[in-house]
Amino acid sequence: MKFEDGDRRTAAPPTPARIVDASKFDLAAAERAAHELLRAMGADLDHPGLLETPRRVAASFAELLTPAEFGATLFRNEGYDELVLVRDIAFQSLCMHHLLPFHGVAHVAYLPGECIIGISKLARVVEAFARDLQLQERMTMQIADWLEEELSPRGVGVVLSAEHMCMTIRGVRKPGSRTVTSAVRGMLRKDARTREEFFSLVERCG
Ligand code: ZN
Repeated sequence: MKFEDGDRRTAAPPTPARIVDASKFDLAAAERAAHELLRAMGADLDHPGLLETPRRVAASFAELLTPAEFGATLFRNEGYDELVLVRDIAFQSLCMHHLLPFHGVAHVAYLPGECIIGISKLARVVEAFARDLQLQERMTMQIADWLEEELSPRGVGVVLSAEHMCMTIRGVRKPGSRTVTSAVRGMLRKDARTREEFFSLVERCG
């Protein structure tokens, strides 16, 4: 990707390969389904405390699965050639296997090539991919892929550390356990020194 005129260009939104097409979210149908789920669970549907619950459930899922509007401008790099790392980007997502939340932090780094991106946009990219039915592994790769495609950087590193409610409140019930995933590309994959620098920056500040 090149700068055709001037020193800036617009990045493509991070929307490839979504599981949920938010434009097809049917709020009324989701509300009816939540009502049916309560009935199937044996809940007393006449209880006053449950009257608004189907509507709230539908609205909550709509919010968790609709990514915010995304716009990012890329700028010509004026010679910075070290890692750019944004640490501790908090995110919340929904596990596609249980529809339960997983939440944690993302550390996102890139080694700039021809262009740089506003650092707050790195947090936006994480958020955009989080608002879907997700797997932590897939989300980690999607963030790395997007950076690689849009920025053509010399390297990319992404680490996600998260607590999965499907593991902490049900199943094996191990509160406090964290799942860590990483994706490294380009120089961060090929060059041991650069990769080490990335992982030590992620750990040192932790
Ligand atoms: Zn799960």
